[in-house]
Amino acid sequence: MELTPRQEIILGIVKREGPITGDRIAERLSLNKATLRPDLTLLTMMGLLEARPRVGYIYSGKSLDQLINRRLHQVRVGEVQSVPVVVAENTVVYDAVVTMFLEDVGTLFVVGQGGLLEGVVSRKDLLKAALGGHDLHRLPVGVIMTRMPNVFTTTPEESVWAAAKRIVTHEVDALPVVQPATGPDGAGGLKVTGRFSKTNIARLFVELGERA
Ligand code: ADP
Repeated sequence: MELTPRQEIILGIVKREGPITGDRIAERLSLNKATLRPDLTLLTMMGLLEARPRVGYIYSGKSLDQLINRRLHQVRVGEVQSVPVVVAENTVVYDAVVTMFLEDVGTLFVVGQGGLLEGVVSRKDLLKAALGGHDLHRLPVGVIMTRMPNVFTTTPEESVWAAAKRIVTHEVDALPVVQPATGPDGAGGLKVTGRFSKTNIARLFVELGERA
């Protein structure tokens, strides 16, 4: 987000002369304090200035880039994730396509007993199967899915930035959000508890822009 010329000037004054009161800044700009209040509030909310009671404003020493960076590393996947849409390994491709349309998602997670992750099926996997001339009413998604341990995952505690970087690096659209769990047979695995996709990233991006 860009600062207005007046906000830049205020920032410069506080950098050079802080701590400095709002009255003094207004005086320096030949404006009244009420006119300046929205600018001072915004600069404080953005974290560029700090308001100390009875002392005045001081420059926080943080750049806008540093503040945006910090915010992106603060937000956790668990705060923005969506509900996972899951199917069983023996679900046929035709039904998987119908599920994608009904649930309005681009990625299905394939789970076994106890909701443990077995694989991922994307739009392109289903299109490929359709082009292959198979009987889509018979072909199970288990045959075409990307299977564990080749599935990239995330956890509710991971930062949105780290998860987004994994999506970009591995060129996938979504990651299952998982937690370690034990299946009914006693074997360890990863239970699917959420879905983190490019849509969640886009939504957060818009929200952060609106709030600033
Ligand atoms: P689309 O098929 O719509 O382009 P993706 O880019 O997500 O969607 O999928 C590309 C390939 O990557 C597919 O073969 C899919 O099975 C696989 N894939 C999707 N998500 C993951 C994931 N989280 N981990 C590993 N592979 C994935």
